[in-house]
Amino acid sequence: MNGEAALRAALAETARQTVVQGLNQSASGNVSARWADGFLVTPSGLPGATLQPAQMVFVGLDGVARSELKPSSEWRIHRDLYVARPEVHAVVHAHSPHAVSLSCLRRAIPPFHYMVAAAGGRDIRCADYATFGTEALSHAVLAALQDRRACLMSNHGQVAVGATLDAALDLALEVEALCAQYWRATLMGEPVLLDDAEMDVVLERFRDYGQRGKTASPSSDAA
Ligand code: 13P
Ligand code: ZN
Repeated sequence: MNGEAALRAALAETARQTVVQGLNQSASGNVSARWADGFLVTPSGLPGATLQPAQMVFVGLDGVARSELKPSSEWRIHRDLYVARPEVHAVVHAHSPHAVSLSCLRRAIPPFHYMVAAAGGRDIRCADYATFGTEALSHAVLAALQDRRACLMSNHGQVAVGATLDAALDLALEVEALCAQYWRATLMGEPVLLDDAEMDVVLERFRDYGQRGKTASPSSDAA
C-alpha cells in the first residue's frame, strides 16, 4: 500500500472510530489529514461509519477540491488550520454529546481537572458561534485554538488537532470525557478549580509525560 492509500485507509478508520466510540452520529463531524500540498478530508453528508478510503476528498491548500465527491462542508476549518499551524497534521471535528451540551452554554471548560492541560493550556476555550461551513466559523475556531490543540464550538461541538490521526482522535475522546466529568461535578456543586500556578506545573510535566521523555531516568521524575 502506498502512502496515499494508507492515509486514505487510516482516515476511513478514524471516521469510523468517531462513530463507534460515540463522538459522532450518522454524518455529523469530519476528519482530515495533511497530504502533499493539501489534505485529505471526509466527504460531506455521508455516514462516518461506512466511509470508504476511495471516498476521501483531496483539497489543496488553495481550497480547490479534486474529487467527484464534495469535501466536508467544514473544509475551510481544516484548510485554515493546515495553513496556519505547521505542527498540525490531523484534525477531528465531532458533535460528541457532552461537548455539544457544554458548547450550548458558550463557556470555556475551566481547569477543574488537570487533564484540561491535554489540550495545551489552562482551559479549553469555546469558539464564538457562527453558521456551520462558513469562513466566520473557521476564524472563530482558529482564534479559540490559539496555543491550544482542542476547543469547543458554540452550539455545535468540538475540534481536536494533532500531529497524527491517532493523537487528534485521542484528544477528541479526552475532551468528551472532560465535558462529561465537568458536567457531573457541577450537578453536585461548584467544582474547585486548579489555579494558574498549578496548571503551569501540569503543563510543564506534560512536556515529558508518558513515553515522550524516554531518556529520563526513573528517579528524575520523583520530585
Ligand atoms: P459534513 O458532512 O459536510 O462534514 O458536515 C458535518 C458537520 O459536522 C458540519 O459541521
Ligand atoms: Zn459539525
